[in-house]
Amino acid sequence: MPSGFKAILHDRNSGASAPVVVRPGPGVLFIELADSRILDWTLPDIDSARALDDGSVILQNGRRFLEVTEPSFRSALERSFPKNKLFQQTFFDRIGVGGCLISFALIILPIWGLYSWLLPVLAERAAQKVPSDVEKQIGEAWFQSVGSIYRVDSAKTRIVQQFYDALAFESDYDIRISVVNEPVVNAFALPGGHIVVFDSMIGIMDAPEQLAALLAHEASHIQWKHSTRTLFRGLANNLLFSIVLGNYGDVSTIVAQHGEQLAGLAYSRSLEQEADEKGLELMAAARIPLRGMPDLFRKMNTTAADGELVPTFLSTHPGITDRIQTTEDLIRSKNAGAGIISPELQQIWQELKQR
Ligand SMILES: [Zn+2]
Repeated sequence: MPSGFKAILHDRNSGASAPVVVRPGPGVLFIELADSRILDWTLPDIDSARALDDGSVILQNGRRFLEVTEPSFRSALERSFPKNKLFQQTFFDRIGVGGCLISFALIILPIWGLYSWLLPVLAERAAQKVPSDVEKQIGEAWFQSVGSIYRVDSAKTRIVQQFYDALAFESDYDIRISVVNEPVVNAFALPGGHIVVFDSMIGIMDAPEQLAALLAHEASHIQWKHSTRTLFRGLANNLLFSIVLGNYGDVSTIVAQHGEQLAGLAYSRSLEQEADEKGLELMAAARIPLRGMPDLFRKMNTTAADGELVPTFLSTHPGITDRIQTTEDLIRSKNAGAGIISPELQQIWQELKQR
């Protein structure tokens, strides 16, 4: 008799498990039961063989399973049945759980990466390269769709446009301002030149340099393509191919269809900070008192605390308290002097406030 391996025989029919001794012989396994009966399993009897990670082996013969935990059993078994691929493993067996996780990660990670990182980067790049007349076309489609939602106050629109023109901020875009009657405190910039100011935003201001600050901030969003970049990032999933192929007609269509949702387009903090910074530069160049910007933020903060108006601007322009501090630090570092409101600006401001 060949030497034996301790094993357990599980019988699915009876549900019993019993200790046995297995002796591998040439082309046969002798299984010695506790009552000294001996079973012989030849190759055709064995339906499947599984080698587990811990070195144990499970052989199946119909409804009976033989479990051998001694690690040396496997090589003894292979000597009994040479040249036989007893342990034909599935792909899963070969790579194991870890391998499965790794393959899963190898498939999922690039897709996830594409969506979360590559797409926005591509969209951002495309937006940087968009010609300004395309930005205007997109902004115009957007403005048309927004225009049907809000009620434009033509008198205030004329005055604020006059105010903006008198500021003489430098811009590559033809900035068109529209004031709309809305109870919420908000303002936003569209690609290509449109700025929409809600009249409630003007309502919280008590000095002309605050209006100048708002317009400088929004004009900077346009000048530095923040609106276009944010729009493209937001639409990247829908519009990847149109954007990459430069088919901007689709962009205009989508923008026209979703104008209302897009009006609340939230900029990233870094773009907000850039608009504040560039806005202050515009103000400094026009010799407008720079305190207008932190003052405006303070006004918005107080309004939000009062809870009288829904401060939409705060939800689309995050981190206002930080921005008060940051702009004040910037102003100190600029050392730009006090600035001045010209009699012309003062007069336009008075006219606006009397409305
Ligand atoms: Zn902003």
